[in-house]
Amino acid sequence: MEIKIAKNSGFCFGVKKAIEVAEEVAKNNKGKTYVHGQLVHNEKVINDLGNKGIVFVENLAEIPDGAITVLRAHGEPGSTYKTLNEKSITKDNNLTDATCPLVTLVHNVGIKLKENGYEVIIFGKADHPESIGTKFHLKGNDTIIVEEPEEYQKVLEFIKNNNSEKVAIISQTTMSVYGYKKLIENINSNLSGNKFGQIQLSLRDLSEKYGYVDTICNPTKQRQSGTEEIAKESDIVIVIGGKNSSNSKELYTKCKELGVESYFIQSAEQLQADWFNQKDKVGVTAGASTPDYLIDEVVNKIKELAA
Ligand code: SF4
Repeated sequence: MEIKIAKNSGFCFGVKKAIEVAEEVAKNNKGKTYVHGQLVHNEKVINDLGNKGIVFVENLAEIPDGAITVLRAHGEPGSTYKTLNEKSITKDNNLTDATCPLVTLVHNVGIKLKENGYEVIIFGKADHPESIGTKFHLKGNDTIIVEEPEEYQKVLEFIKNNNSEKVAIISQTTMSVYGYKKLIENINSNLSGNKFGQIQLSLRDLSEKYGYVDTICNPTKQRQSGTEEIAKESDIVIVIGGKNSSNSKELYTKCKELGVESYFIQSAEQLQADWFNQKDKVGVTAGASTPDYLIDEVVNKIKELAA
């Protein structure tokens, strides 16, 4: 049996940096270090960090006044900074912001489009922290979020009711490249007049009435293309990622779309021996929130089961 790991599998630089930052802060802090939400969508990593004195809270109210705090890679809405400020937790004092620069870039793109008269629509998951953070900079809870290419009607509906407005679509960094393309195709094939054209990330030319900006990050794209490559040449693909990891779920969906037998797991213990019966080529891929040691554990377990 041949086992191949997809190119660029595992941690992206943004997640790696956020973990390093949190570990460094916790090391230099005798008390507890607080993180709002999951620093990374991977339970094992979260448990390991918990053993290093990092406390993860879902609600900002659980962070005590003045506590040492780290903000995750996914980005936060402005209201988070305001609430922390009221608790005397500020950047020049006890707050370390590990927001990935590529998430900040999406916020800035959205803000600039809005300032230039566009209604900005997000292609993303409504409950994902990144989209929650991005919509804060747009129209808050009134921001239109399209989760799937099949929801293109939401965009058409807006255009029908607001025909004179400029409309731009941006994407959460971890969405499917194929899904984004499909969404634009679905919209354009149902529009009789102006179509959605691509607006370059530099935003130098904002003359399009309807446009979309490719804000899916490069590490996500690399993981998707590496997975596609491996799925095409494997009899079975094992996708490793946290249950809540958006980019890992996209990798799994991609494998299913390509028709290869695939399984989405969180750890090596979930592997089952019969999956590998009469399989010669096994592909392994992992989302941006999966550490290398988990990939190694899975590969070793597959070898053990095959033997
Ligand atoms: S997936 Fe992309 S945007 Fe998100 S943390 Fe990683 S590099 Fe940054």
